[in-house]
Amino acid sequence: MTVARILAEKGRTVVTVQPDRSLADAIHLLAEKGIGALVVTDAAQSVLGILSERDIMRALASLGAGAMDAPIASHMTANVTTCRRDTTIEEVMHLMTEGRFRHVPVCEEGKLAGLVSIGDAVKRRIATVEAEHQAMRDYITMA
Ligand code: AMP
Repeated sequence: MTVARILAEKGRTVVTVQPDRSLADAIHLLAEKGIGALVVTDAAQSVLGILSERDIMRALASLGAGAMDAPIASHMTANVTTCRRDTTIEEVMHLMTEGRFRHVPVCEEGKLAGLVSIGDAVKRRIATVEAEHQAMRDYITMA
C-alpha cells in the first residue's frame, strides 16, 4: 500500500503555518486542531520546515516563558524528510524509525501535498496484516 491510498482516505489537507509567526501562535493552532505538528510553508506551499510539540517543549525548557514570542523559524526543523505519493507505507515507517520522528510531509513537484503521521501508517499497516491473516485462515479452512 502506498501513501496515495492513505491520502485518498484521510484527505490532503495539512495544517500549515508561516515561519514568522510566534511559538504562541503555533501552540494555539496545535491545541485548536488537536494535532502534534505543523508544516511550515511559504506562500507557494513549498515546505520550509516542521515544528512539532517536541520543538516547543525544547524551546520552553531552554528559554522559559520568553520562548512564546520567538518566531517559529528559530525553533523548527529545517531539514525535513519528505515522501512522495508512490512511497510505500513500509518505507514511511522505516523513515520514521530511522529519523525518530512521527510526521512525514508528502510533496509533489516541490509543493506540499499531504501529511502522513505515525498513527496513519500504523493503522494501515495493521489493516494490511489482518487482511493477510484472514486470507491465510480462509485458505487453510478451505483445504
Ligand atoms: P515528532 O516525533 O514528529 O513530533 O518530531 C520529533 C522531532 O523531529 C522534532 O524536532 C521535529 O521538528 C522533527 N521532525 C518531525 N518530522 C520530521 C520530518 N519529517 N523530517 C525531519 N524532522 C522531523
